[in-house]
Amino acid sequence: MPRIELLVIQPTPFCNIECRYCYLPERNSKAVVAPETLVNLFSQVFASGWLHDCVSIVWHAGEPMVLPVAFYRDAFRMIDRTKPSGLTVTHSFQTNGTLIDEAWCDFFAEEGVNVGVSIDGPKRLHDRNRLTRSGRGTFDKTIRGIRLLRRREIPFHVISVLSVASMAVPSEMFDFYAEEGIERVCFNVEESEGDHVSQSFADGGVDAAYYRFLSEFWRLSSAMPGKIKFIREIEHALQQVIRPKDAPFNNQLVEPFAITSMDWAGNISTFSPELLGLKNAQYGDFLLGNINRDALVEMPQQLNFVRMTKDIQAGVAMCRERCEYFSVCGGGEPVNKLAENGSFVSTETTYCRVTKMRATDLVLNALERVPPSSSGRTEPSLPLGMPAHARDQPARSG
Ligand code: SF4
Repeated sequence: MPRIELLVIQPTPFCNIECRYCYLPERNSKAVVAPETLVNLFSQVFASGWLHDCVSIVWHAGEPMVLPVAFYRDAFRMIDRTKPSGLTVTHSFQTNGTLIDEAWCDFFAEEGVNVGVSIDGPKRLHDRNRLTRSGRGTFDKTIRGIRLLRRREIPFHVISVLSVASMAVPSEMFDFYAEEGIERVCFNVEESEGDHVSQSFADGGVDAAYYRFLSEFWRLSSAMPGKIKFIREIEHALQQVIRPKDAPFNNQLVEPFAITSMDWAGNISTFSPELLGLKNAQYGDFLLGNINRDALVEMPQQLNFVRMTKDIQAGVAMCRERCEYFSVCGGGEPVNKLAENGSFVSTETTYCRVTKMRATDLVLNALERVPPSSSGRTEPSLPLGMPAHARDQPARSG
């Protein structure tokens, strides 16, 4: 039986800005999910038997904050009313931060929303790619939102998309976060997805550049403790590298329905959330049905699902057989295999070389330099200055 761990909901495909690397195909559409569609989704999800004791909801795949606060207050109350007792529901927003104001801060604080803000570093780097429709930089508005979150003491993390230019200047990036009091950072590398072809990937050598960047950024963080308290890529790599040998690796991206995504119209997809809006010559699209017309629990019988699952699992099996990083990766990201290799039934991508292989190498190299403690166990957190315990996992998107 599937187990839903994460629901990605697109409240609207619309975005108020136009980043150069955005892969969302409908970002000019001002469509909004209907309240009935949300009721249909949650009533079916809650009745499915596919949940355990908690589920995370990420409002994303467009700019969620272009809708009014009242929309989310209504949605959250409906979810509270219909959820089974004992189920913990957490909400996250991934936002470009340009619309954060006092009313949003009130809402985030009252509802305990996890907030992720996309900012690509200092103004000169951020404004290269994160632009308004008229081509102006969005840094000033985004940083104003971040400063307001800080003033209101609302916890947040940032996701920064790294370009060739930002990977070349780890100390400038570090100084920016430190000066702005940004303590929790996640890095995505500009990647090829949908119609977007990444310049970083096209240039080659991106994995070596990423390794150098992350290594220096981690060194600076360790040298100045208290400034950056969480680097997602290091934390995740540490968690995987030092977990017990027999502990299974849970790769949500290849588990059917572990991540369940719904677009504004009620269309459902699974595996990589980016598949929701993609079209492809081989599969057509990656939709499993529509929550307004189809039964969620019957979607595993859909032909599209059976085909995708078979191919994704074949790709995972190839990874298991061929890749020495499988135990810390679990077979990667289906959407990147499709975008870069043209097939789910494949293994290595530039994306996995960067995000899995080089991040793992970095942590392994660091651990090799750590002397064992008197108990004989390696204690990575002490000399490296980073806590090794599990933390929340911010959304990957940026
Ligand atoms: S690192 Fe790449 S090749 Fe290795 S298991 Fe992960 S996706 Fe497969």
